[in-house]
Amino acid sequence: MTPEFILMLEGVNKTFDGFKAINDLNLYLDKGELRVVIGPNGAGKSTMLDIITGRTRPDTGKVEFGKDTDLTRLNEYQINRLGIGRKFQTPSVYTDHTVFENIWLSLEGSRGLWQALVSRLTTSQRDRIHEVLQTVGLAARADVKAGSLSHGQKQWLEIGMLLAQNPKVLLVDEPAAGMTDEETAKTGELLIGLAGKHTIVVIEHDMVFVRQIARKVTVLHQGHVLCEGTVDQVQNDERVIEVYLGRKKKEKPGPTPALAAH
Ligand code: ADP
Ligand code: MG
Repeated sequence: MTPEFILMLEGVNKTFDGFKAINDLNLYLDKGELRVVIGPNGAGKSTMLDIITGRTRPDTGKVEFGKDTDLTRLNEYQINRLGIGRKFQTPSVYTDHTVFENIWLSLEGSRGLWQALVSRLTTSQRDRIHEVLQTVGLAARADVKAGSLSHGQKQWLEIGMLLAQNPKVLLVDEPAAGMTDEETAKTGELLIGLAGKHTIVVIEHDMVFVRQIARKVTVLHQGHVLCEGTVDQVQNDERVIEVYLGRKKKEKPGPTPALAAH
Protein backbone atom coordinates (compact mmCIF):
# COMPACT_ATOMS: atom_id res chain seq x y z
CA MET A 1 0.00 0.00 0.00
CA THR A 2 1.33 3.45 -0.82
CA PRO A 3 1.41 5.76 2.20
CA GLU A 4 -1.05 8.61 2.25
CA PHE A 5 0.33 12.09 2.59
CA ILE A 6 -1.67 15.14 3.53
CA LEU A 7 0.56 17.25 1.33
CA MET A 8 2.91 16.23 -1.44
CA LEU A 9 5.24 18.13 -3.74
CA GLU A 10 6.86 16.03 -6.42
CA GLY A 11 9.29 17.06 -9.14
CA VAL A 12 8.46 20.73 -8.63
CA ASN A 13 10.42 23.35 -10.58
CA LYS A 14 10.20 27.13 -10.64
CA THR A 15 12.42 29.54 -12.52
CA PHE A 16 12.39 33.32 -12.01
CA ASP A 17 14.00 35.23 -14.89
CA GLY A 18 16.34 32.34 -15.68
CA PHE A 19 17.14 31.67 -12.00
CA LYS A 20 16.12 28.24 -10.79
CA ALA A 21 14.65 28.98 -7.36
CA ILE A 22 13.02 25.54 -7.02
CA ASN A 23 14.75 22.55 -8.58
CA ASP A 24 13.13 19.13 -8.74
CA LEU A 25 11.70 19.54 -5.25
CA ASN A 26 10.06 16.63 -3.46
CA LEU A 27 8.34 17.00 -0.11
CA TYR A 28 6.00 14.51 1.55
CA LEU A 29 4.13 15.45 4.72
CA ASP A 30 2.35 13.00 6.97
CA LYS A 31 -0.91 14.02 8.57
CA GLY A 32 -0.31 15.67 11.94
CA GLU A 33 3.46 15.88 11.67
CA LEU A 34 5.55 18.87 12.65
CA ARG A 35 8.18 19.38 9.97
CA VAL A 36 10.99 21.87 10.26
CA VAL A 37 12.55 23.19 7.05
CA ILE A 38 15.97 24.80 7.26
CA GLY A 39 18.39 26.03 4.62
CA PRO A 40 20.57 29.01 3.78
CA ASN A 41 19.12 32.30 2.58
CA GLY A 42 17.79 32.01 -0.93
CA ALA A 43 17.42 28.22 -0.68
CA GLY A 44 13.80 28.50 -1.81
CA LYS A 45 12.05 27.97 1.52
CA SER A 46 9.59 30.84 1.19
CA THR A 47 9.09 30.09 -2.50
CA MET A 48 8.14 26.55 -1.52
CA LEU A 49 5.42 27.99 0.74
CA ASP A 50 4.37 30.35 -2.07
CA ILE A 51 3.91 27.31 -4.32
CA ILE A 52 1.91 25.36 -1.73
CA THR A 53 -0.38 28.33 -1.05
CA GLY A 54 -0.93 29.24 -4.70
CA ARG A 55 0.88 32.55 -4.53
CA THR A 56 3.41 31.25 -7.05
CA ARG A 57 2.63 28.75 -9.77
CA PRO A 58 5.24 26.06 -10.38
CA ASP A 59 6.53 25.63 -13.94
CA THR A 60 6.29 21.85 -13.63
CA GLY A 61 5.60 19.24 -10.98
CA LYS A 62 2.85 17.97 -8.75
CA VAL A 63 1.47 19.73 -5.68
CA GLU A 64 -1.25 17.64 -4.10
CA PHE A 65 -3.34 18.02 -0.99
CA GLY A 66 -4.84 14.86 0.44
CA LYS A 67 -5.56 12.05 -1.93
CA ASP A 68 -6.53 13.85 -5.07
CA THR A 69 -6.64 17.62 -4.81
CA ASP A 70 -4.30 19.21 -7.34
CA LEU A 71 -3.31 22.53 -5.78
CA THR A 72 -1.68 23.82 -8.97
CA ARG A 73 -5.18 24.29 -10.42
CA LEU A 74 -6.44 26.41 -7.53
CA ASN A 75 -5.92 30.03 -6.55
CA GLU A 76 -4.72 31.35 -3.18
CA TYR A 77 -8.21 31.87 -1.84
CA GLN A 78 -9.39 28.39 -2.81
CA ILE A 79 -6.30 26.78 -1.28
CA ASN A 80 -6.83 28.70 1.94
CA ARG A 81 -10.46 27.56 2.06
CA LEU A 82 -9.31 23.95 1.80
CA GLY A 83 -7.61 24.40 5.16
CA ILE A 84 -4.07 25.50 4.37
CA GLY A 85 -3.15 28.50 6.49
CA ARG A 86 0.06 30.50 6.28
CA LYS A 87 1.77 32.78 8.68
CA PHE A 88 4.17 35.25 7.13
CA GLN A 89 7.29 36.47 8.88
CA THR A 90 5.96 39.86 9.95
CA PRO A 91 2.79 39.75 12.00
CA SER A 92 -0.23 41.39 10.41
CA VAL A 93 -2.90 41.97 13.01
CA TYR A 94 -5.60 44.65 13.26
CA THR A 95 -3.72 46.92 15.65
CA ASP A 96 -6.74 49.13 16.51
CA HIS A 97 -8.89 46.16 17.48
CA THR A 98 -8.66 44.13 20.64
CA VAL A 99 -7.01 40.75 20.79
CA PHE A 100 -10.46 39.19 21.18
CA GLU A 101 -11.80 41.02 18.12
CA ASN A 102 -8.82 39.95 16.06
CA ILE A 103 -9.65 36.29 16.67
CA TRP A 104 -13.34 37.00 16.11
CA LEU A 105 -12.63 38.56 12.73
CA SER A 106 -10.71 35.45 11.71
CA LEU A 107 -13.26 32.86 12.77
CA GLU A 108 -14.09 30.13 10.39
CA GLY A 109 -17.12 31.22 8.42
CA SER A 110 -16.77 34.92 9.22
CA ARG A 111 -17.39 36.98 6.14
CA GLY A 112 -14.86 39.73 6.51
CA LEU A 113 -14.31 42.60 8.84
CA TRP A 114 -17.47 44.64 8.41
CA GLN A 115 -19.94 41.79 8.57
CA ALA A 116 -18.19 40.20 11.51
CA LEU A 117 -18.43 43.40 13.51
CA VAL A 118 -22.08 44.08 12.79
CA SER A 119 -23.20 40.50 13.36
CA ARG A 120 -23.91 39.18 16.86
CA LEU A 121 -21.49 36.82 18.46
CA THR A 122 -22.97 33.42 19.29
CA THR A 123 -22.12 31.55 22.48
CA SER A 124 -20.28 28.89 20.56
CA GLN A 125 -18.24 31.56 18.74
CA ARG A 126 -17.38 33.19 22.06
CA ASP A 127 -16.30 29.83 23.49
CA ARG A 128 -14.21 29.13 20.42
CA ILE A 129 -12.49 32.53 20.66
CA HIS A 130 -11.64 31.91 24.31
CA GLU A 131 -10.37 28.45 23.48
CA VAL A 132 -8.05 29.88 20.80
CA LEU A 133 -6.83 32.64 23.13
CA GLN A 134 -6.11 30.02 25.78
CA THR A 135 -4.15 27.93 23.28
CA VAL A 136 -1.92 30.81 22.21
CA GLY A 137 -1.49 32.09 25.77
CA LEU A 138 -3.29 35.41 25.30
CA ALA A 139 -6.43 34.84 27.38
CA ALA A 140 -5.35 37.48 29.89
CA ARG A 141 -4.84 39.98 27.05
CA ALA A 142 -8.23 39.49 25.39
CA ASP A 143 -9.36 43.08 25.86
CA VAL A 144 -6.21 45.02 25.04
CA LYS A 145 -5.60 46.57 21.63
CA ALA A 146 -3.50 44.27 19.46
CA GLY A 147 -1.21 47.22 18.71
CA SER A 148 -0.05 47.28 22.32
CA LEU A 149 1.19 43.68 22.31
CA SER A 150 4.88 42.79 22.23
CA HIS A 151 6.32 41.46 18.99
CA GLY A 152 6.15 37.90 20.29
CA GLN A 153 2.55 38.29 21.46
CA LYS A 154 1.58 39.65 18.04
CA GLN A 155 3.06 36.55 16.47
CA TRP A 156 1.00 34.34 18.81
CA LEU A 157 -2.10 36.36 18.04
CA GLU A 158 -1.55 35.80 14.36
CA ILE A 159 -1.12 32.08 14.96
CA GLY A 160 -4.40 32.28 16.90
CA MET A 161 -6.05 34.02 13.96
CA LEU A 162 -5.01 31.13 11.75
CA LEU A 163 -6.20 28.59 14.32
CA ALA A 164 -9.59 30.29 14.40
CA GLN A 165 -10.01 29.07 10.83
CA ASN A 166 -9.28 25.54 12.00
CA PRO A 167 -6.66 24.79 9.35
CA LYS A 168 -5.57 21.28 8.47
CA VAL A 169 -2.13 22.50 7.48
CA LEU A 170 -0.32 25.40 9.10
CA LEU A 171 2.71 26.91 7.33
CA VAL A 172 4.82 29.13 9.56
CA ASP A 173 7.72 31.18 8.18
CA GLU A 174 10.44 32.00 10.72
CA PRO A 175 8.20 32.46 13.78
CA ALA A 176 11.10 33.03 16.18
CA ALA A 177 12.64 35.91 14.25
CA GLY A 178 12.88 38.98 16.48
CA MET A 179 11.64 37.14 19.57
CA THR A 180 13.27 37.05 22.98
CA ASP A 181 14.62 33.68 24.15
CA GLU A 182 11.64 33.27 26.43
CA GLU A 183 9.16 34.07 23.66
CA THR A 184 10.99 31.67 21.36
CA ALA A 185 10.72 28.85 23.89
CA LYS A 186 7.00 29.54 24.38
CA THR A 187 6.47 29.55 20.62
CA GLY A 188 8.16 26.16 20.46
CA GLU A 189 5.83 24.76 23.10
CA LEU A 190 2.84 26.19 21.27
CA LEU A 191 3.83 24.59 17.95
CA ILE A 192 4.59 21.23 19.59
CA GLY A 193 1.15 21.36 21.21
CA LEU A 194 -0.54 22.06 17.87
CA ALA A 195 1.10 19.15 16.06
CA GLY A 196 -1.13 16.14 15.79
CA LYS A 197 -4.26 18.28 15.58
CA HIS A 198 -2.76 20.10 12.61
CA THR A 199 0.02 19.32 10.17
CA ILE A 200 2.66 21.97 10.66
CA VAL A 201 5.56 23.18 8.53
CA VAL A 202 7.95 25.54 10.27
CA ILE A 203 10.69 27.35 8.42
CA GLU A 204 13.40 28.38 10.83
CA HIS A 205 16.96 29.64 11.12
CA ASP A 206 17.45 29.56 14.86
CA MET A 207 19.07 26.19 15.59
CA VAL A 208 18.30 26.34 19.31
CA PHE A 209 14.65 26.66 18.38
CA VAL A 210 14.97 23.92 15.75
CA ARG A 211 16.42 21.62 18.40
CA GLN A 212 13.55 22.41 20.72
CA ILE A 213 10.76 21.56 18.29
CA ALA A 214 12.13 19.37 15.54
CA ARG A 215 11.18 15.78 14.93
CA LYS A 216 12.00 15.58 11.27
CA VAL A 217 14.10 18.23 9.58
CA THR A 218 14.27 18.90 5.85
CA VAL A 219 17.31 20.78 4.59
CA LEU A 220 16.72 22.81 1.45
CA HIS A 221 19.59 23.96 -0.74
CA GLN A 222 19.31 25.59 -4.15
CA GLY A 223 15.65 24.73 -4.36
CA HIS A 224 16.21 21.03 -3.74
CA VAL A 225 16.06 18.74 -0.69
CA LEU A 226 19.65 18.16 0.38
CA CYS A 227 18.81 15.76 3.18
CA GLU A 228 16.16 14.84 5.73
CA GLY A 229 16.33 13.34 9.19
CA THR A 230 16.57 14.15 12.87
CA VAL A 231 18.39 17.31 13.97
CA ASP A 232 21.45 15.22 14.83
CA GLN A 233 21.39 13.42 11.53
CA VAL A 234 21.20 16.59 9.46
CA GLN A 235 23.72 18.47 11.59
CA ASN A 236 26.21 15.66 11.09
CA ASP A 237 25.56 15.23 7.38
CA GLU A 238 28.71 16.22 5.48
CA ARG A 239 26.71 17.91 2.70
CA VAL A 240 24.81 20.00 5.21
CA ILE A 241 27.96 20.95 7.07
CA GLU A 242 29.49 22.04 3.78
CA VAL A 243 26.66 24.18 2.43
CA TYR A 244 24.83 25.28 5.51
CA LEU A 245 26.86 25.09 8.66
CA GLY A 246 29.94 26.67 7.16
CA ARG A 247 32.23 23.67 6.66
CA LYS A 248 32.65 22.90 10.32
CA LYS A 249 30.57 21.26 12.98
CA LYS A 250 29.14 23.95 15.19
CA GLU A 251 27.91 21.75 17.94
CA LYS A 252 28.87 18.43 19.37
CA PRO A 253 26.12 15.93 18.74
CA GLY A 254 24.27 15.06 21.90
CA PRO A 255 20.82 13.99 22.98
CA THR A 256 18.12 16.17 21.53
CA PRO A 257 15.73 17.18 24.31
CA ALA A 258 12.76 17.43 21.98
CA LEU A 259 13.44 13.99 20.54
CA ALA A 260 14.25 12.39 23.87
CA ALA A 261 10.99 13.69 25.31
CA HIS A 262 8.94 12.40 22.41
P1 ADP B 1 14.50 31.57 1.27
O1 ADP B 1 13.14 31.77 1.81
O2 ADP B 1 14.98 30.16 1.39
O3 ADP B 1 15.50 32.53 1.83
P2 ADP B 1 13.30 32.39 -1.20
O4 ADP B 1 12.34 31.32 -1.50
O5 ADP B 1 12.76 33.66 -0.65
O6 ADP B 1 14.48 31.84 -0.31
O7 ADP B 1 14.07 32.78 -2.53
C1 ADP B 1 14.72 31.85 -3.38
C2 ADP B 1 15.24 32.58 -4.58
O8 ADP B 1 14.17 32.88 -5.46
C3 ADP B 1 15.93 33.90 -4.24
O9 ADP B 1 17.05 34.03 -5.07
C4 ADP B 1 14.85 34.92 -4.57
O10 ADP B 1 15.44 36.13 -4.95
C5 ADP B 1 14.11 34.27 -5.72
N1 ADP B 1 12.71 34.67 -5.77
C6 ADP B 1 11.76 34.31 -4.87
N2 ADP B 1 10.55 34.81 -5.21
C7 ADP B 1 10.75 35.52 -6.35
C8 ADP B 1 9.91 36.27 -7.23
N3 ADP B 1 8.60 36.39 -6.99
N4 ADP B 1 10.47 36.86 -8.32
C9 ADP B 1 11.78 36.71 -8.58
N5 ADP B 1 12.64 36.01 -7.80
C10 ADP B 1 12.15 35.43 -6.72
MG1 MG C 1 12.35 33.11 3.28
